[in-house]
This record gives sequence, C-alpha cells and structure tokens, in this order.
Amino acid sequence: MEQVTRNVWTDTTIRGCNPSYVITSDGVVVVDTPQLPTRAVAMRQEAESRGPIRYVINTEHHVDHIFGNFYFKGAGTVVQHQGVYDRFMVVYPELDPFAYAAEAIPTDDPEGAAIFPDRDVYYANPNKGQIVFTGDLTLHVGDHTFELLHTPGHTPGQIAVHVPEERVVFTGDTVFKDCQTWLMTSDIEQWIAALDRIGGLDVDWVVPGHGPVTTRAYLATQRATLLEWKAAVAVAVARGWSREETMARVSFADRCPVDIGQGYMMEYIQTLNAGSLWDKLTAEPRG
Ligand SMILES: [Zn+2]
Repeated sequence: MEQVTRNVWTDTTIRGCNPSYVITSDGVVVVDTPQLPTRAVAMRQEAESRGPIRYVINTEHHVDHIFGNFYFKGAGTVVQHQGVYDRFMVVYPELDPFAYAAEAIPTDDPEGAAIFPDRDVYYANPNKGQIVFTGDLTLHVGDHTFELLHTPGHTPGQIAVHVPEERVVFTGDTVFKDCQTWLMTSDIEQWIAALDRIGGLDVDWVVPGHGPVTTRAYLATQRATLLEWKAAVAVAVARGWSREETMARVSFADRCPVDIGQGYMMEYIQTLNAGSLWDKLTAEPRG
C-alpha cells in the first residue's frame, strides 16, 4: 500500500474505494475495507503486521466501502454512523449490493471466488457496526485522535475521518479525485456543506473515496462538478425535457474516466445521475 504520512497508508490502485489504515501507539485503525476478497485479506494481514486492529471505521454505506468488513471479523470494533448502519448492504431496486460485489470477482479478483461467501452465509454475519453513532464521534487511540465528522451529502450517513496528528482527512466519496462522481443517492446542497466543513480542517492531505491522494485545493473542483451537474439538469428541466430526454442528453462522460475497474458503468452513472437530479429538481415546489 501507499504511504501518505508517517503513520497513514492507503491503496488507490484497486477496484472499489481507497481502503486505508492508521498506525497508532496502541494498534491500528482501519478506514474502509477493500471490496475485493483477496485484497481485503491481504490488507488485514498487512495492517495486523503493524499492530492489533482496534477499530474498523466505514465512511459510507456504498458496497465498495463496506463489503470487505466480512473479512475483518474479529479484527477490532466496527464503528459506523447510524446512516451507514441502517443501509448496510440493504438491497434496493436500483442496486443489489451483494450482486454488485459478486459481479467484480471474475474480472477483478478471480482468486477471490474461493473465499466469496454464499448470500445466506454473508448476510448471517456481514460484520456491521458495533459502535453506532449519530452526529460526530471522537475516538482516542494511543497518541492519535480520530474525529468522525458527519458530512452527509453523497450519502445520508457519510462521514469524514480527520486525524489531526497526521494532518490527514479521509473523506469517503465526498471527494472523487479525477474520476466520475456518483450522485444518485445524494443531496447536493448537503454535499456542498460537507465540502465546506472539510475545507475548514487544517490538513495537508485529503484521502478521497476514489482516485489519487490530493489536497484541500481539489475541494473546489469537486464543488464545481456538483454545481455543473445540477445546473445542466436545471437547464434541461427549464427547457421542458422529460426525464428520459434528460437522461439521454445530459452527460459528463467526456470529463474524466470512471474509477478503476468500473469503466463499463459509465452509461449507468450518467443516466442515473441525470435522472435522480431531474427527480429532485422537478419535485421542488416552485415560485
Ligand atoms: Zn459512494
């Protein structure tokens, strides 16, 4: 994995989120778990070689941040916001998270097939949160502080994990660095407020949910992406375009690629981003 600071490690090179860990004087704290089974097992081994795992924190409920928890059973206490806990691997009409995790195996982790659980086995104990909180939560582990900040927007239970001693913040998918932004489960106004809150932190490094490690300067780019999406769909609505027409004609596919291993999802992202924004903009009371 890639070293960010003296005690912070992440992996921005695999399909799924950027799973990370922080080494403290009293063990290791994991922030998000790899979606791919062999990567989850390997990360657990690497983290445990640095000390016992004290906590596993999930920044959001999307499958690529939480599925790997299954492979961290018995490795520390799982900490989740209530909004993550309530949506943990819940099947929705537009996405079955278990099927989505399974779908990645043949292409991205064929060796993981041997340790990929049956659905019943998985759901019997997926390793959900044991400490579940609302608002913010601060953990002290050894000489390190972990400020879990509720930053809803991308998802309702979204958190950022600020580690002041390392001058690092892990944002989950509040930040997509140089790759497509998924906003179909999102509230853009809340998301902008989340970016403002993160922008107020005194940090050198921003570990995004997807894409390379970046800095606070990129928060403005993420904000612009959100506002441009909303403006483009607002124009479509003003022109009287139907939901279908908006989904067909509004696209940001030429801006940047999809994160690693999910290029085939480009059309899905564009249409669902546009459709979900159309739903929200047409639902708002006018005048
Ligand atoms: Zn996400």
